[in-house]
Amino acid sequence: MDYKDLANLIFPNAKDIKYYEEKYPERNLPEGAIVTRFAPSPTGFVHIGGLYQALVAKTVAEKTDGVFFLRVEDTDQKREVENGVIGIVNSLKDFDMAPDEGMITDTEEIGNYGPYKQSLRKDIYQAYAKYLIEQGKAYPCFCTPEEDEERKAKQEAAKLRTGYYGVWAKCRKLTVEEMAEKIKNGESYIIRFKSPGREDRKIKHKDVIKGNVDFPENDQDIIIIKSDGLPTYHFAHAVDDHLMRTTYVIRSDEWLSSVPLHLQLFHELGFKAPKYAHISPIMKNDNGGKRKLSKRKDPEAAVSYYKEQGIPTDAVKEYLLNIANSTFENWRRANPDKKMEEFDFQLNKMSVSGALFDMIKLLDIGKTVISKMTAEEVYEKALDWANEFDSELVEMLKNKEYALKVFGIERGNKKPRKDIAKWSDVKENIEYMYDDKFYSKTQEYPYQVISDKESIEKILKLYIEKYYYVNDDKQTWFDKIKELSVEMGYAGEVKEFKANPGKYKAHVGDVSTVLRVALTSRTNTPDMYEIMKVLGKETIEKRFEKAIENLK
Ligand code: GLU
Repeated sequence: MDYKDLANLIFPNAKDIKYYEEKYPERNLPEGAIVTRFAPSPTGFVHIGGLYQALVAKTVAEKTDGVFFLRVEDTDQKREVENGVIGIVNSLKDFDMAPDEGMITDTEEIGNYGPYKQSLRKDIYQAYAKYLIEQGKAYPCFCTPEEDEERKAKQEAAKLRTGYYGVWAKCRKLTVEEMAEKIKNGESYIIRFKSPGREDRKIKHKDVIKGNVDFPENDQDIIIIKSDGLPTYHFAHAVDDHLMRTTYVIRSDEWLSSVPLHLQLFHELGFKAPKYAHISPIMKNDNGGKRKLSKRKDPEAAVSYYKEQGIPTDAVKEYLLNIANSTFENWRRANPDKKMEEFDFQLNKMSVSGALFDMIKLLDIGKTVISKMTAEEVYEKALDWANEFDSELVEMLKNKEYALKVFGIERGNKKPRKDIAKWSDVKENIEYMYDDKFYSKTQEYPYQVISDKESIEKILKLYIEKYYYVNDDKQTWFDKIKELSVEMGYAGEVKEFKANPGKYKAHVGDVSTVLRVALTSRTNTPDMYEIMKVLGKETIEKRFEKAIENLK
Protein backbone atom coordinates (compact mmCIF):
# COMPACT_ATOMS: atom_id res chain seq x y z
CA MET A 1 0.00 0.00 0.00
CA ASP A 2 1.43 3.39 -0.95
CA TYR A 3 0.18 6.99 -1.09
CA LYS A 4 -1.23 6.42 -4.53
CA ASP A 5 -3.35 3.51 -3.34
CA LEU A 6 -4.52 5.58 -0.39
CA ALA A 7 -5.48 8.44 -2.72
CA ASN A 8 -7.40 6.01 -4.92
CA LEU A 9 -9.18 4.56 -1.93
CA ILE A 10 -10.32 8.01 -0.80
CA PHE A 11 -11.15 9.58 -4.16
CA PRO A 12 -11.62 6.69 -6.60
CA ASN A 13 -13.34 8.82 -9.23
CA ALA A 14 -11.35 12.03 -9.09
CA LYS A 15 -9.76 13.09 -12.37
CA ASP A 16 -6.07 13.63 -12.94
CA ILE A 17 -5.29 17.30 -12.36
CA LYS A 18 -3.83 17.44 -15.86
CA TYR A 19 -7.39 17.47 -17.12
CA TYR A 20 -8.15 20.71 -15.26
CA GLU A 21 -4.81 22.30 -16.03
CA GLU A 22 -5.58 21.87 -19.72
CA LYS A 23 -9.21 22.85 -19.43
CA TYR A 24 -8.32 26.16 -17.76
CA PRO A 25 -5.18 27.32 -19.56
CA GLU A 26 -3.23 30.49 -18.92
CA ARG A 27 -5.28 33.40 -20.13
CA ASN A 28 -4.34 34.98 -23.37
CA LEU A 29 -4.20 38.62 -22.31
CA PRO A 30 -2.07 41.61 -23.24
CA GLU A 31 1.10 42.10 -21.27
CA GLY A 32 0.48 43.70 -17.89
CA ALA A 33 -3.19 42.73 -17.85
CA ILE A 34 -4.39 42.03 -14.32
CA VAL A 35 -6.96 39.38 -13.46
CA THR A 36 -8.90 40.16 -10.28
CA ARG A 37 -11.96 38.82 -8.58
CA PHE A 38 -14.62 39.58 -6.03
CA ALA A 39 -15.22 36.46 -3.98
CA PRO A 40 -17.95 37.02 -1.41
CA SER A 41 -19.85 34.46 0.60
CA PRO A 42 -23.59 34.60 0.04
CA THR A 43 -24.55 35.46 3.61
CA GLY A 44 -27.42 37.72 2.61
CA PHE A 45 -25.60 40.89 3.57
CA VAL A 46 -23.44 42.86 1.15
CA HIS A 47 -21.13 45.07 3.20
CA ILE A 48 -19.99 48.43 1.82
CA GLY A 49 -16.44 47.15 2.45
CA GLY A 50 -17.16 44.34 -0.02
CA LEU A 51 -18.33 46.79 -2.64
CA TYR A 52 -15.19 48.80 -1.96
CA GLN A 53 -12.99 45.76 -2.60
CA ALA A 54 -14.97 44.92 -5.72
CA LEU A 55 -14.61 48.47 -7.03
CA VAL A 56 -10.87 48.41 -6.45
CA ALA A 57 -10.55 45.01 -8.13
CA LYS A 58 -12.67 46.05 -11.09
CA THR A 59 -10.84 49.34 -11.51
CA VAL A 60 -7.44 47.63 -11.53
CA ALA A 61 -8.61 45.05 -14.09
CA GLU A 62 -10.18 47.66 -16.34
CA LYS A 63 -7.14 49.92 -16.28
CA THR A 64 -4.94 47.10 -17.53
CA ASP A 65 -7.37 45.49 -20.00
CA GLY A 66 -7.55 42.53 -17.67
CA VAL A 67 -10.49 40.57 -16.32
CA PHE A 68 -12.67 41.09 -13.27
CA PHE A 69 -14.77 38.10 -12.24
CA LEU A 70 -17.28 37.23 -9.56
CA ARG A 71 -16.87 33.97 -7.66
CA VAL A 72 -19.40 32.89 -5.10
CA GLU A 73 -17.80 31.27 -2.06
CA ASP A 74 -20.53 29.07 -0.69
CA THR A 75 -18.59 26.23 0.87
CA ASP A 76 -19.78 27.07 4.35
CA GLN A 77 -23.27 25.82 3.85
CA LYS A 78 -24.29 26.64 7.41
CA ARG A 79 -23.85 30.34 6.72
CA GLU A 80 -25.66 30.36 3.44
CA VAL A 81 -29.01 32.08 3.04
CA GLU A 82 -31.63 32.01 0.37
CA ASN A 83 -31.24 34.77 -2.22
CA GLY A 84 -27.68 35.40 -1.06
CA VAL A 85 -26.26 35.04 -4.56
CA ILE A 86 -28.79 37.19 -6.34
CA GLY A 87 -28.27 39.86 -3.66
CA ILE A 88 -24.59 40.03 -4.56
CA VAL A 89 -25.19 39.94 -8.32
CA ASN A 90 -27.79 42.70 -8.10
CA SER A 91 -25.66 44.89 -5.86
CA LEU A 92 -22.90 44.84 -8.47
CA LYS A 93 -25.43 45.58 -11.21
CA ASP A 94 -26.96 48.44 -9.24
CA PHE A 95 -23.56 50.06 -9.11
CA ASP A 96 -22.87 49.38 -12.75
CA MET A 97 -20.10 47.01 -11.76
CA ALA A 98 -21.21 43.79 -13.43
CA PRO A 99 -18.24 41.42 -13.72
CA ASP A 100 -16.65 40.34 -17.01
CA GLU A 101 -17.00 36.73 -15.93
CA GLY A 102 -18.72 34.73 -13.26
CA MET A 103 -22.17 34.66 -11.82
CA ILE A 104 -24.67 36.92 -13.58
CA THR A 105 -27.87 35.66 -11.92
CA ASP A 106 -28.34 33.25 -9.04
CA THR A 107 -27.90 30.28 -11.39
CA GLU A 108 -26.32 31.55 -14.61
CA GLU A 109 -22.75 32.47 -15.30
CA ILE A 110 -20.53 33.62 -18.15
CA GLY A 111 -16.87 32.86 -18.85
CA ASN A 112 -14.63 29.87 -19.59
CA TYR A 113 -13.11 29.41 -16.15
CA GLY A 114 -16.19 28.24 -14.26
CA PRO A 115 -18.13 27.00 -12.50
CA TYR A 116 -17.86 30.24 -10.55
CA LYS A 117 -19.81 28.92 -7.60
CA GLN A 118 -17.66 26.85 -5.26
CA SER A 119 -20.31 24.33 -4.30
CA LEU A 120 -20.30 23.25 -7.96
CA ARG A 121 -16.55 22.64 -7.95
CA LYS A 122 -16.42 19.70 -5.57
CA ASP A 123 -14.87 17.39 -8.16
CA ILE A 124 -12.13 19.87 -8.90
CA TYR A 125 -11.14 20.29 -5.23
CA GLN A 126 -11.16 16.55 -4.74
CA ALA A 127 -8.89 16.04 -7.75
CA TYR A 128 -6.33 18.42 -6.23
CA ALA A 129 -6.72 16.90 -2.77
CA LYS A 130 -6.11 13.49 -4.32
CA TYR A 131 -3.03 14.86 -6.05
CA LEU A 132 -1.65 16.04 -2.69
CA ILE A 133 -2.42 12.70 -1.02
CA GLU A 134 -0.63 10.85 -3.83
CA GLN A 135 2.49 12.80 -3.02
CA GLY A 136 2.22 12.39 0.71
CA LYS A 137 1.34 16.07 1.14
CA ALA A 138 -2.12 15.50 2.55
CA TYR A 139 -3.71 12.77 4.63
CA PRO A 140 -6.98 11.66 6.13
CA CYS A 141 -7.53 12.61 9.74
CA PHE A 142 -9.82 10.55 11.94
CA CYS A 143 -9.79 12.70 15.08
CA THR A 144 -13.25 13.19 16.47
CA PRO A 145 -14.59 16.62 17.52
CA GLU A 146 -14.16 15.46 21.15
CA GLU A 147 -10.51 14.63 20.56
CA ASP A 148 -10.03 18.04 18.94
CA GLU A 149 -11.56 19.72 21.99
CA GLU A 150 -9.35 17.70 24.30
CA ARG A 151 -6.24 18.63 22.35
CA LYS A 152 -7.18 22.29 22.45
CA ALA A 153 -7.81 22.20 26.19
CA LYS A 154 -4.41 20.61 26.79
CA GLN A 155 -2.68 23.18 24.60
CA GLU A 156 -4.40 26.03 26.39
CA ALA A 157 -3.56 24.61 29.81
CA ALA A 158 0.09 24.35 28.77
CA LYS A 159 -0.05 27.88 27.26
CA LEU A 160 0.86 26.53 23.85
CA ARG A 161 -0.39 27.55 20.42
CA THR A 162 -3.59 25.73 19.64
CA GLY A 163 -4.04 23.77 16.45
CA TYR A 164 -3.03 20.65 14.60
CA TYR A 165 0.74 20.75 14.25
CA GLY A 166 3.96 19.00 15.26
CA VAL A 167 3.48 16.44 18.02
CA TRP A 168 -0.21 17.30 18.21
CA ALA A 169 -0.86 16.21 14.64
CA LYS A 170 -1.85 12.74 15.70
CA CYS A 171 -3.11 11.28 12.42
CA ARG A 172 -0.08 12.53 10.52
CA LYS A 173 1.83 9.72 12.20
CA LEU A 174 -0.43 6.89 11.10
CA THR A 175 0.95 4.56 8.47
CA VAL A 176 -0.73 4.34 5.11
CA GLU A 177 -1.93 0.87 6.09
CA GLU A 178 -3.46 2.14 9.33
CA MET A 179 -5.22 4.90 7.43
CA ALA A 180 -6.58 2.50 4.83
CA GLU A 181 -7.71 0.15 7.56
CA LYS A 182 -9.70 2.87 9.33
CA ILE A 183 -11.30 3.98 6.08
CA LYS A 184 -12.29 0.42 5.26
CA ASN A 185 -13.80 0.13 8.73
CA GLY A 186 -16.05 3.07 7.92
CA GLU A 187 -14.48 5.58 10.33
CA SER A 188 -15.32 9.12 9.34
CA TYR A 189 -12.53 11.47 8.38
CA ILE A 190 -11.55 14.77 6.87
CA ILE A 191 -8.49 15.59 4.75
CA ARG A 192 -5.61 17.60 6.18
CA PHE A 193 -2.72 19.30 4.47
CA LYS A 194 0.68 18.04 5.66
CA SER A 195 2.46 21.31 6.27
CA PRO A 196 6.20 21.28 5.54
CA GLY A 197 6.64 24.48 7.57
CA ARG A 198 8.41 25.28 10.80
CA GLU A 199 7.25 27.89 13.20
CA ASP A 200 10.79 28.99 14.05
CA ARG A 201 11.49 30.01 10.46
CA LYS A 202 10.32 33.26 8.94
CA ILE A 203 8.91 34.03 5.56
CA LYS A 204 8.95 37.40 3.89
CA HIS A 205 5.98 38.63 1.94
CA LYS A 206 5.66 41.77 -0.14
CA ASP A 207 2.06 42.83 -0.13
CA VAL A 208 0.98 45.27 -2.85
CA ILE A 209 -0.74 47.49 -0.27
CA LYS A 210 0.80 46.61 3.08
CA GLY A 211 4.38 46.47 1.81
CA ASN A 212 6.97 44.13 3.33
CA VAL A 213 5.78 41.90 6.13
CA ASP A 214 7.41 38.88 7.78
CA PHE A 215 5.62 36.03 9.38
CA PRO A 216 6.59 32.74 10.99
CA GLU A 217 6.12 29.89 8.52
CA ASN A 218 2.89 28.00 8.70
CA ASP A 219 3.20 24.66 10.45
CA GLN A 220 -0.48 23.83 10.91
CA ASP A 221 -1.91 20.79 9.19
CA ILE A 222 -5.07 22.64 8.27
CA ILE A 223 -8.19 20.92 7.02
CA ILE A 224 -8.49 21.12 3.25
CA ILE A 225 -11.55 18.93 2.67
CA LYS A 226 -14.30 18.87 5.28
CA SER A 227 -16.53 15.95 6.19
CA ASP A 228 -19.18 17.18 3.73
CA GLY A 229 -16.64 16.79 0.91
CA LEU A 230 -16.37 20.55 0.40
CA PRO A 231 -13.09 22.45 0.77
CA THR A 232 -12.18 25.01 3.40
CA TYR A 233 -11.65 28.63 2.34
CA HIS A 234 -7.87 28.22 2.25
CA PHE A 235 -7.82 25.24 -0.08
CA ALA A 236 -10.54 26.60 -2.35
CA HIS A 237 -8.67 29.90 -2.59
CA ALA A 238 -5.50 28.18 -3.79
CA VAL A 239 -7.23 25.87 -6.27
CA ASP A 240 -9.65 28.48 -7.64
CA ASP A 241 -7.33 31.42 -7.94
CA HIS A 242 -4.86 29.15 -9.68
CA LEU A 243 -7.35 27.62 -12.12
CA MET A 244 -9.16 30.89 -12.73
CA ARG A 245 -5.78 32.42 -13.40
CA THR A 246 -6.17 35.29 -10.94
CA THR A 247 -3.04 37.42 -10.97
CA TYR A 248 -3.92 39.78 -8.09
CA VAL A 249 -5.82 38.59 -5.06
CA ILE A 250 -7.41 41.77 -3.73
CA ARG A 251 -9.21 41.02 -0.48
CA SER A 252 -9.82 42.16 3.06
CA ASP A 253 -6.81 42.41 5.36
CA GLU A 254 -8.38 39.95 7.77
CA TRP A 255 -6.69 37.38 5.48
CA LEU A 256 -3.20 38.90 5.69
CA SER A 257 -2.15 36.56 8.48
CA SER A 258 -3.15 33.57 6.33
CA VAL A 259 -0.61 34.48 3.65
CA PRO A 260 2.09 32.07 4.98
CA LEU A 261 -0.38 29.21 4.73
CA HIS A 262 -1.61 30.29 1.31
CA LEU A 263 1.88 30.63 -0.12
CA GLN A 264 2.70 27.21 1.23
CA LEU A 265 -0.39 25.70 -0.37
CA PHE A 266 0.43 27.27 -3.73
CA HIS A 267 3.96 25.96 -3.47
CA GLU A 268 3.04 22.41 -2.48
CA LEU A 269 0.40 22.27 -5.20
CA GLY A 270 3.00 23.38 -7.72
CA PHE A 271 1.17 26.59 -8.55
CA LYS A 272 2.61 30.02 -9.19
CA ALA A 273 1.44 32.26 -6.36
CA PRO A 274 -0.58 35.37 -7.22
CA LYS A 275 0.24 38.85 -5.96
CA TYR A 276 -1.71 39.81 -2.86
CA ALA A 277 -3.21 43.19 -2.06
CA HIS A 278 -4.82 43.34 1.37
CA ILE A 279 -7.29 46.18 1.83
CA SER A 280 -7.79 47.78 5.23
CA PRO A 281 -11.34 48.02 6.47
CA ILE A 282 -13.44 51.15 6.29
CA MET A 283 -13.46 52.75 9.73
CA LYS A 284 -15.81 55.02 11.56
CA ASN A 285 -15.33 57.57 14.32
CA ASP A 286 -17.04 56.45 17.45
CA ASN A 287 -16.82 58.34 20.72
CA GLY A 288 -13.40 59.69 19.96
CA GLY A 289 -12.10 56.26 18.93
CA LYS A 290 -11.96 54.51 15.59
CA ARG A 291 -13.64 51.22 14.81
CA LYS A 292 -14.63 49.15 11.79
CA LEU A 293 -17.98 49.91 10.17
CA SER A 294 -20.15 47.31 11.78
CA LYS A 295 -22.89 45.26 10.25
CA ARG A 296 -24.77 45.32 13.53
CA LYS A 297 -24.33 48.92 14.61
CA ASP A 298 -24.16 50.98 11.42
CA PRO A 299 -26.95 51.03 8.85
CA GLU A 300 -24.51 52.52 6.34
CA ALA A 301 -22.46 49.30 6.49
CA ALA A 302 -25.03 47.66 4.22
CA VAL A 303 -24.88 48.32 0.50
CA SER A 304 -28.70 48.22 0.48
CA TYR A 305 -28.74 51.37 2.63
CA TYR A 306 -27.40 53.50 -0.22
CA LYS A 307 -30.06 52.23 -2.55
CA GLU A 308 -32.84 52.84 -0.06
CA GLN A 309 -31.60 56.34 0.63
CA GLY A 310 -31.23 56.97 -3.06
CA ILE A 311 -27.63 58.12 -2.84
CA PRO A 312 -26.56 58.17 -6.50
CA THR A 313 -24.47 55.13 -7.33
CA ASP A 314 -21.86 57.30 -9.00
CA ALA A 315 -21.52 59.31 -5.81
CA VAL A 316 -20.94 56.16 -3.77
CA LYS A 317 -18.32 54.90 -6.22
CA GLU A 318 -16.64 58.26 -6.43
CA TYR A 319 -16.58 58.48 -2.66
CA LEU A 320 -15.03 55.03 -2.41
CA LEU A 321 -12.31 56.02 -4.89
CA ASN A 322 -11.78 59.06 -2.72
CA ILE A 323 -11.01 56.97 0.32
CA ALA A 324 -9.08 54.44 -1.75
CA ASN A 325 -6.53 56.96 -3.10
CA SER A 326 -5.95 60.18 -1.23
CA THR A 327 -4.82 61.83 -4.47
CA PHE A 328 -8.31 61.49 -5.93
CA GLU A 329 -9.61 64.63 -4.27
CA ASN A 330 -7.01 66.91 -5.86
CA TRP A 331 -7.46 65.22 -9.18
CA ARG A 332 -11.19 65.80 -9.01
CA ARG A 333 -10.69 69.45 -8.14
CA ALA A 334 -8.45 69.89 -11.16
CA ASN A 335 -10.74 67.86 -13.43
CA PRO A 336 -14.30 68.52 -12.35
CA ASP A 337 -15.80 67.31 -15.60
CA LYS A 338 -13.82 64.15 -16.21
CA LYS A 339 -15.30 60.71 -15.70
CA MET A 340 -14.06 59.07 -12.52
CA GLU A 341 -12.85 56.14 -14.63
CA GLU A 342 -10.17 58.44 -16.03
CA PHE A 343 -8.51 58.82 -12.64
CA ASP A 344 -5.12 57.09 -12.55
CA PHE A 345 -5.91 54.70 -9.72
CA GLN A 346 -2.91 53.17 -7.94
CA LEU A 347 -3.39 50.02 -5.93
CA ASN A 348 -0.11 50.48 -4.08
CA LYS A 349 -1.15 53.96 -2.89
CA MET A 350 -4.05 52.64 -0.85
CA SER A 351 -3.92 53.45 2.82
CA VAL A 352 -2.28 50.86 5.03
CA SER A 353 -4.50 51.71 7.97
CA GLY A 354 -8.25 51.95 7.51
CA ALA A 355 -9.85 54.92 5.76
CA LEU A 356 -12.46 56.86 7.73
CA PHE A 357 -16.01 56.86 6.49
CA ASP A 358 -17.50 60.32 6.23
CA MET A 359 -21.19 60.57 5.36
CA ILE A 360 -21.08 64.35 5.03
CA LYS A 361 -18.41 64.08 2.38
CA LEU A 362 -20.36 61.38 0.57
CA LEU A 363 -23.53 63.49 0.51
CA ASP A 364 -21.51 66.43 -0.71
CA ILE A 365 -20.29 64.32 -3.62
CA GLY A 366 -23.92 63.31 -4.13
CA LYS A 367 -24.83 66.97 -4.55
CA THR A 368 -22.10 67.54 -7.06
CA VAL A 369 -22.96 64.42 -9.02
CA ILE A 370 -26.64 65.38 -9.22
CA SER A 371 -25.83 68.99 -10.06
CA LYS A 372 -24.14 67.80 -13.23
CA MET A 373 -27.13 65.84 -14.45
CA THR A 374 -29.66 67.17 -16.94
CA ALA A 375 -33.25 67.72 -15.81
CA GLU A 376 -34.18 64.64 -17.79
CA GLU A 377 -31.61 62.48 -15.97
CA VAL A 378 -32.67 63.81 -12.60
CA TYR A 379 -36.25 63.06 -13.53
CA GLU A 380 -35.52 59.49 -14.64
CA LYS A 381 -33.37 58.63 -11.64
CA ALA A 382 -35.68 60.22 -9.11
CA LEU A 383 -38.57 58.35 -10.67
CA ASP A 384 -36.67 55.03 -10.64
CA TRP A 385 -35.98 55.48 -6.98
CA ALA A 386 -39.53 56.60 -6.22
CA ASN A 387 -41.00 53.60 -8.04
CA GLU A 388 -39.32 51.43 -5.47
CA PHE A 389 -39.47 53.56 -2.35
CA ASP A 390 -41.95 56.46 -2.48
CA SER A 391 -45.34 56.26 -4.17
CA GLU A 392 -46.19 59.85 -3.25
CA LEU A 393 -43.21 61.07 -5.23
CA VAL A 394 -44.26 58.87 -8.16
CA GLU A 395 -47.59 60.64 -8.10
CA MET A 396 -45.91 64.06 -8.05
CA LEU A 397 -43.75 63.14 -11.03
CA LYS A 398 -46.66 61.93 -13.15
CA ASN A 399 -46.77 65.20 -15.06
CA LYS A 400 -43.38 64.81 -16.68
CA GLU A 401 -43.44 68.08 -18.59
CA TYR A 402 -43.99 70.04 -15.41
CA ALA A 403 -41.44 67.98 -13.45
CA LEU A 404 -38.83 68.68 -16.11
CA LYS A 405 -39.46 72.40 -15.68
CA VAL A 406 -39.08 72.05 -11.92
CA PHE A 407 -35.84 70.08 -12.22
CA GLY A 408 -34.68 72.46 -14.93
CA ILE A 409 -34.54 75.38 -12.50
CA GLU A 410 -30.93 76.55 -12.22
CA ARG A 411 -29.63 73.54 -14.07
CA GLY A 412 -27.45 73.24 -17.13
CA ASN A 413 -25.70 76.55 -16.42
CA LYS A 414 -22.20 77.21 -15.16
CA LYS A 415 -23.09 77.10 -11.50
CA PRO A 416 -25.93 74.62 -11.29
CA ARG A 417 -28.00 74.21 -8.15
CA LYS A 418 -26.44 71.88 -5.64
CA ASP A 419 -29.24 71.19 -3.24
CA ILE A 420 -30.11 67.55 -3.85
CA ALA A 421 -27.72 64.99 -2.35
CA LYS A 422 -29.89 61.90 -2.73
CA TRP A 423 -33.13 60.86 -4.35
CA SER A 424 -34.90 60.72 -1.01
CA ASP A 425 -34.29 64.50 -0.76
CA VAL A 426 -36.24 65.23 -3.92
CA LYS A 427 -39.75 65.29 -2.50
CA GLU A 428 -38.91 67.73 0.26
CA ASN A 429 -36.90 69.73 -2.18
CA ILE A 430 -39.60 70.31 -4.77
CA GLU A 431 -42.80 70.09 -2.70
CA TYR A 432 -43.49 73.81 -2.77
CA MET A 433 -43.60 73.68 -6.56
CA TYR A 434 -46.77 71.60 -6.30
CA ASP A 435 -49.92 73.42 -5.24
CA ASP A 436 -51.64 70.48 -3.61
CA LYS A 437 -48.58 69.72 -1.49
CA PHE A 438 -48.04 73.39 -0.78
CA TYR A 439 -51.56 74.01 0.44
CA SER A 440 -52.04 70.73 2.26
CA LYS A 441 -49.13 71.46 4.56
CA THR A 442 -49.66 73.92 7.36
CA GLN A 443 -47.50 76.65 6.03
CA GLU A 444 -45.26 78.76 8.12
CA TYR A 445 -44.09 82.05 6.73
CA PRO A 446 -40.67 82.79 8.16
CA TYR A 447 -40.48 86.47 7.22
CA GLN A 448 -37.24 88.11 8.18
CA VAL A 449 -36.33 91.81 8.29
CA ILE A 450 -39.64 93.04 6.94
CA SER A 451 -42.17 91.28 9.13
CA ASP A 452 -45.05 93.67 9.81
CA LYS A 453 -48.41 92.84 8.36
CA GLU A 454 -48.98 96.09 6.57
CA SER A 455 -45.68 96.23 4.74
CA ILE A 456 -45.91 92.64 3.68
CA GLU A 457 -49.44 93.00 2.42
CA LYS A 458 -48.51 96.10 0.52
CA ILE A 459 -45.44 94.53 -1.07
CA LEU A 460 -47.34 91.49 -2.23
CA LYS A 461 -50.26 93.45 -3.63
CA LEU A 462 -48.16 96.06 -5.37
CA TYR A 463 -45.94 93.43 -6.83
CA ILE A 464 -48.66 91.43 -8.44
CA GLU A 465 -50.70 94.41 -9.58
CA LYS A 466 -47.99 96.63 -10.86
CA TYR A 467 -44.66 94.86 -11.23
CA TYR A 468 -44.97 91.22 -12.24
CA TYR A 469 -44.98 90.55 -15.97
CA VAL A 470 -44.67 87.02 -17.17
CA ASN A 471 -42.54 87.95 -20.14
CA ASP A 472 -39.97 90.08 -18.39
CA ASP A 473 -36.41 88.97 -18.79
CA LYS A 474 -34.38 88.44 -15.66
CA GLN A 475 -32.80 91.86 -15.54
CA THR A 476 -36.11 93.65 -16.01
CA TRP A 477 -37.70 91.37 -13.44
CA PHE A 478 -35.07 92.30 -10.92
CA ASP A 479 -35.19 95.99 -11.78
CA LYS A 480 -38.89 95.91 -11.02
CA ILE A 481 -38.28 94.57 -7.54
CA LYS A 482 -35.90 97.48 -7.08
CA GLU A 483 -38.55 99.90 -8.25
CA LEU A 484 -41.02 98.35 -5.88
CA SER A 485 -38.53 98.72 -3.04
CA VAL A 486 -37.97 102.36 -3.80
CA GLU A 487 -41.72 102.98 -4.05
CA MET A 488 -42.07 101.46 -0.59
CA GLY A 489 -39.27 103.64 0.82
CA TYR A 490 -36.64 100.92 1.04
CA ALA A 491 -33.17 101.08 -0.47
CA GLY A 492 -33.13 99.93 -4.09
CA GLU A 493 -29.48 98.89 -3.77
CA VAL A 494 -27.83 97.02 -0.93
CA LYS A 495 -24.81 99.33 -1.30
CA GLU A 496 -26.95 102.34 -0.69
CA PHE A 497 -28.46 100.75 2.38
CA LYS A 498 -25.04 99.99 3.80
CA ALA A 499 -23.83 103.51 3.15
CA ASN A 500 -26.80 105.03 4.97
CA PRO A 501 -27.93 102.52 7.54
CA GLY A 502 -30.04 105.07 9.40
CA LYS A 503 -31.94 106.16 6.34
CA TYR A 504 -33.70 102.91 5.36
CA LYS A 505 -35.62 100.25 7.23
CA ALA A 506 -34.70 97.62 4.70
CA HIS A 507 -33.38 97.03 1.19
CA VAL A 508 -34.23 95.30 -2.04
CA GLY A 509 -32.92 91.97 -0.72
CA ASP A 510 -35.37 92.10 2.16
CA VAL A 511 -38.20 92.81 -0.26
CA SER A 512 -37.15 89.78 -2.31
CA THR A 513 -37.25 87.71 0.86
CA VAL A 514 -40.84 88.75 1.48
CA LEU A 515 -41.75 87.64 -2.04
CA ARG A 516 -39.86 84.39 -1.65
CA VAL A 517 -41.34 83.49 1.71
CA ALA A 518 -44.88 84.32 0.58
CA LEU A 519 -44.41 82.28 -2.56
CA THR A 520 -42.67 79.20 -1.18
CA SER A 521 -42.82 79.54 2.61
CA ARG A 522 -39.04 79.13 2.56
CA THR A 523 -36.22 81.59 2.97
CA ASN A 524 -33.89 79.56 0.84
CA THR A 525 -34.78 78.45 -2.67
CA PRO A 526 -33.14 78.29 -6.05
CA ASP A 527 -33.51 81.27 -8.34
CA MET A 528 -36.85 83.00 -7.70
CA TYR A 529 -37.13 84.36 -11.22
CA GLU A 530 -37.11 80.82 -12.58
CA ILE A 531 -39.47 79.58 -9.89
CA MET A 532 -41.97 82.29 -10.78
CA LYS A 533 -41.73 81.39 -14.44
CA VAL A 534 -42.52 77.75 -13.73
CA LEU A 535 -45.36 78.52 -11.31
CA GLY A 536 -47.03 81.14 -13.52
CA LYS A 537 -48.83 84.34 -12.62
CA GLU A 538 -52.07 82.76 -11.49
CA THR A 539 -50.33 80.56 -8.92
CA ILE A 540 -48.20 83.42 -7.71
CA GLU A 541 -51.29 85.50 -7.16
CA LYS A 542 -53.11 82.74 -5.33
CA ARG A 543 -50.15 82.09 -3.08
CA PHE A 544 -49.80 85.75 -2.24
CA GLU A 545 -53.49 85.90 -1.34
CA LYS A 546 -53.05 82.93 0.93
CA ALA A 547 -49.97 84.52 2.51
CA ILE A 548 -51.95 87.69 3.16
CA GLU A 549 -54.75 85.68 4.76
CA ASN A 550 -52.17 84.17 7.04
CA LEU A 551 -50.80 87.46 8.29
CA LYS A 552 -51.63 87.98 11.91
N1 GLU B 1 -15.23 34.48 0.80
C1 GLU B 1 -14.20 35.24 1.43
C2 GLU B 1 -14.84 36.31 2.26
O1 GLU B 1 -15.98 36.65 2.00
C3 GLU B 1 -13.37 35.87 0.34
C4 GLU B 1 -12.05 36.35 0.65
C5 GLU B 1 -11.30 36.52 -0.66
O2 GLU B 1 -11.57 37.49 -1.36
O3 GLU B 1 -10.50 35.67 -0.95
O4 GLU B 1 -14.25 36.79 3.19
